[in-house]
Formats: sequence, structure tokens, C-alpha cells
Amino acid sequence: MSPPVSDPPSVPVALVTGASRGIGAATAVELARRGFSVGLNYLQDTVAAERVQTEITALGGRSLPLPGDVRDPAQVARMFALLDDTLGPLSVLVTAAGITRDTLLGASTPDDFSAVLSTNLDGVVNVCREATRRMIPHRRGSIVAVSSVAASHPGRGQSNYAASKGAIESFVRALAVELAPRSIRVNAVAPGLVRTDMTAALRALASDELLRRILLRRIAEPIEIARVIAFLASPDASYVTGQVYAVDGGFKLE
Ligand code: NAP
Repeated sequence: MSPPVSDPPSVPVALVTGASRGIGAATAVELARRGFSVGLNYLQDTVAAERVQTEITALGGRSLPLPGDVRDPAQVARMFALLDDTLGPLSVLVTAAGITRDTLLGASTPDDFSAVLSTNLDGVVNVCREATRRMIPHRRGSIVAVSSVAASHPGRGQSNYAASKGAIESFVRALAVELAPRSIRVNAVAPGLVRTDMTAALRALASDELLRRILLRRIAEPIEIARVIAFLASPDASYVTGQVYAVDGGFKLE
């Protein structure tokens, strides 16, 4: 059976959450380079989001800063409405917004757990709900969620983070089942250690021991994750759905 054919919008539209910094910023720029107009969601760092917008403009691309808290369904709904009105129908969603709050469970507060789950899991669910409502009528779309190597190889103090990312991977598989009949693909990437603000403290402590666990013996640059996300989002991955794609330099393979 040949793949379904539908009229693509003249300029395809992507929304990237957590697009002001790190993996989300690199992904937004990479998608713009590949011809997408890009909605740039972020929480508060307007200066960083404007830097990403400037970079996209310099490439001749179009982007729209969309400040908004992914934990809040009302803010997410407003953000999508603005995206619809300004850039047009969505065809790609990348969920990169995320936080860590590493702490040993016994020393943690309930908030240490709920803060991570509400951003990393509820946040993904909130944006996926809005995205699917828009993609289903067009029977077209691709969603890529950013999980983590920590879902399967958590470090000490990462029970909250690992739980959120493990849940994302299950969610992605379940959503892929739900959306496959509408020709919408849903996948995740599971990055290893990446050079972003999130890992600044960890990298400052990064020992040879840590690097020894990575087959490629180095930390990833955000663009190396962004390229795999862009691949999964693209028609080049037209027969890939419900998968978690490790982009971790061969973490703990030896
Ligand atoms: P980062 O550099 O710390 O950037 C986090 C981004 O998320 C920022 O754009 C931030 O916005 C946004 N954000 C945080 N809370 C938000 C909220 N409630 N609503 C909307 N946006 C929010 O992080 P990163 O390292 O690029 O990580 C991106 C994703 O990759 C995360 O899901 C993370 O778990 C995952 N990951 C990272 C690594 C790694 O080694 N870095 C490894 C595996 C997985 P502001 O700038 O406005 O604060």
C-alpha cells in the first residue's frame, strides 16, 4: 500500500516547546533550516527566545515566540490559538520543555516530585492534546517527544526525572497506537548527556568515570539531538512510529 497523500501546506509549521535554549533551540533552528515556520515556546527567558528568532530570521525563516507555561492547559490552548492565527496549520510538534530537580527521594519534598512530573509529563500531554486536535482533521502530522537516557539508566537522585521520562515513553507508544489510523506518527528521542544549561552543574563534575560510560567518550552537542528529531519529524521517517530513538553516544554499552 502506498503512503497516504495529502496536500502539504505551502510552508509547513512546527511548534517546539522549550525552544529558547538547549535542545529545543537547536531543534527550532534546524527545522527552520529545513523550511519550517516555527513556533518558539518557552517559559520566561525572552532574551534567549529572541536570540533563536534572530538566528532563524538570518536563515530567511519565520518564527513566532510563544511564551507560555506548558503545565497550564489554558496557557497552552492560547498559545496554539495564536500559532494557528499567525503561522497556520501545525504539522510537526516537538516537546523539548523539561526540568530536573535531582534529589534523593528520602531527602525530597513532595514538590520536588510534582514539579518535575507536571513540567515533563503533564506539559507534554497538554501540548500533545492541542496538537492532535489540529492534526487529526488534516490526517497529517508528526510528534517527537524528548525523553532521556535516564528513563532506562537513571542516575542517583533522579527518581522524579526518570519517572517522568519513563512515562513519556509509554505515552508516546500509546499515542502512536491512537493516531496511526489518522496517519500521524509519534516518536521520542532519548538523549544522553548533552551540553546545555540543564547539565552545567553535572558537566562541571563530569569525571572520566562518567565519560567512560559513553561509548563515544564525549558529551553531545544540542545539534546532534536536533538532527535526529528533525529526521523523525520528516517524511524520511515515514514508516517510523511508536519508537524511542536513543541518541546517547552508546551509553552503558560496555
Ligand atoms: P534547558 O537548556 O534547561 O532548556 C529548558 C527549556 O525548557 C527552556 O527553553 C525553558 O524555557 C523551557 N521550559 C522549562 N519549563 C517550562 C515550562 N513549564 N513551560 C514552557 N517551557 C519550559 O534544557 P535542555 O537540556 O535543552 O533539555 C531539553 C529537553 O531534553 C528536556 O526535556 C530534558 O529533560 C531533555 N534531555 C536533556 C538532556 C541533557 O543532557 N541536556 C539529556 C536528556 C534529555 P526558559 O528558557 O524560558 O526557562
